Amino acid sequence: MQSRYLKIFKGMAKSARSALRRSWLERRLPVREISGRSALIVAPHPDDETFGAGGLIALKRTAGVSVRVLFLTGGEASHTACCNTDRELIRSVRRQQASAASVPLGLSPDDLIWSDFQDGNIPHEGSAGFEHAVAGMSEVILRFQPDEIYCPHPADGHPDHRAATRITETAVKHSVPYIRIVYYTVWACYNAPHLISGGWRLDARPVYEKKAAAIREYLDQKPAPCGIPWCGRLPEAVIRSARSAVELYRDKALSRNNFP
Ligand SMILES: [Zn+2]
Ligand SMILES: [Zn+2]
Repeated sequence: MQSRYLKIFKGMAKSARSALRRSWLERRLPVREISGRSALIVAPHPDDETFGAGGLIALKRTAGVSVRVLFLTGGEASHTACCNTDRELIRSVRRQQASAASVPLGLSPDDLIWSDFQDGNIPHEGSAGFEHAVAGMSEVILRFQPDEIYCPHPADGHPDHRAATRITETAVKHSVPYIRIVYYTVWACYNAPHLISGGWRLDARPVYEKKAAAIREYLDQKPAPCGIPWCGRLPEAVIRSARSAVELYRDKALSRNNFP
């Protein structure tokens, strides 16, 4: 019993720390306007693109800038901890939600690209399948030639997010010499608030209603049979970050392969 209370207490402390850090970052990081450059958003799971970069997508689309989203998995492992809802059903519902969420953000079905990695098993660097994943990502990059690529912040901590970022970075290195990589945040403020020390913030208030409508497609629709949203039980602090009108980003340090 004692350990249960300890766990609850630790969870509350983590959320409080996350909220404090986030509000500090939301006030201190420099504000940046969106660029007029085309973008590819790499989303490990359906919802990451909206929770982390929904405002940026809506702002770019409102300005007529081309944006595409690459979903790496169907997010079918979101109920592993709570019930045994069929994974194929979860995958199909979450993909429908992603399609529905893309509409208020200003995307068309042609802007959505679907990969078929297993949720929880996006290949890590050095593991079987990593090179294949990099080749697949390189193909997408060469086909759409985006000026910017957005992938999860290294401090997000989620293994699939880390793997997605390494695949993106390696694919960029192998395929296009002049492309800007930018990290967006979904879990970083919750998992590793102390690791977000630099970067910039985006004020998404002008398009906030569009982002809120996209979030509703994920969080406020009929839940899974166990009563929890299809994207799973997320910590309150992660949901608060997602619902914020301020989005946090960091540019990957520029290198020979990552020019402005
Ligand atoms: Zn995710
Ligand atoms: Zn469940």
